[in-house]
Amino acid sequence: MTKSLFTHLECALCGKEHSKEKVNTVCENAECRGILSAQYDFSRNTLTKEELKNRPATLWRYKEFLPVSDERNIVSLGEGFTPILQLNNLGEHTRGKQVLLKDESNEPTGSFKSRGLSVAVSKSRELGVRELVIPTAGNAGGALAAYSARAGLKAHVFMPELTPRAFKAEARLFGANVTEVDGNISDCGKLANALAAENGWFDVSTLKEPYRLEGKKTMGYEIAEQLNWTLPDVILYPTGGGTGIIGIWKAFGELEQLGWIGGKRPRMVAVQSDSCNGIHLAFQNNETTSTFKDNGFTVANGLRVPKPYADRVILQVLRESGGNSVSVSDAGILAALKELASREGLLPAPEGAALWHAYKALSQSGWIKDGETALLLNTGSGYKYLDNIEE
Ligand SMILES: *Cc1c(COP(=O)(O)O)cnc(C)c1O
Ligand SMILES: [Zn+2]
Repeated sequence: MTKSLFTHLECALCGKEHSKEKVNTVCENAECRGILSAQYDFSRNTLTKEELKNRPATLWRYKEFLPVSDERNIVSLGEGFTPILQLNNLGEHTRGKQVLLKDESNEPTGSFKSRGLSVAVSKSRELGVRELVIPTAGNAGGALAAYSARAGLKAHVFMPELTPRAFKAEARLFGANVTEVDGNISDCGKLANALAAENGWFDVSTLKEPYRLEGKKTMGYEIAEQLNWTLPDVILYPTGGGTGIIGIWKAFGELEQLGWIGGKRPRMVAVQSDSCNGIHLAFQNNETTSTFKDNGFTVANGLRVPKPYADRVILQVLRESGGNSVSVSDAGILAALKELASREGLLPAPEGAALWHAYKALSQSGWIKDGETALLLNTGSGYKYLDNIEE
């Protein structure tokens, strides 16, 4: 049986080591409270790229580089190994460039949140957790509820009232205890946090728990593997809490340690909604942290994150990669969504559609150059958002 190479957790800000044997949240150092990042002993790896080809088409094909020790604890609904499509019909915008879209719309529960929650719920089960709680803009709640149902664990979900109906319905159908909150995801987070402390539930809020990040990093592994161990020049990512951008960047570092890719990295682009664009503003103003920013409703519910917990780390990744940021209005998002739908037969989540608007802006301004390859990470399906999309 293959063994996970997971050794310990390390704080992304101060480097403090944390044991993998206990239930961890964030850095124990009270002055730090940074996010914890799983570390592996890649020097012990024996898996080859060739052997990988025969593995199942789920993210668990990379199980040596994931944190679950005993495979019997894996909770899977077939997540991961999603296709990378080429945009073919929008030549007036893509001419001279290659534009790829990694499509997470067919993931279990319709979004890439299934990656993070498959890994986090598996690891929670391994550590003996029984009840989990999550604040969510929608997709994470559905994914936690589904994986908890599959694992026989109890899920508590806190979601803004202003979330399309499908998100509330699916979480309830999966047997979760759903609370609708008059507010945004930060308000949901405060409630979840208080109730977790009171009832002994495990809080799996974005990046306040180390293993959702491990699930999301598999997008980086897949991009490299599916593009035959080369990387695109630019990756555009719809940034809410930022798990994907941090995870994909972590994956590339790990793949280099494995000797599977070289040192060349894509320029990472954080795309946000004008409703909540704190990362965009901080990046453009050369700041190292973001400030709380909430201008209210956006059709891209997953982007309504007023202050990402890991803002420092997100901004580091953008700078280290020579990346950029773009903020998009709801009108821009909806127009982009309709263009992708009517011209390419794709119905992305509004968060993913925002990337198409951002791509066009960066291509027109010359920041994405002729001869370059850009990859859009469409994080979910538009079908759950019809309340927001249809006129
Ligand atoms: C949650 C979510 C996002 C934001 O992801 P983060 O990793 O929190 O930045 C983007 N798109 C969709 C569809 C989401 O559900
Ligand atoms: Zn720390």
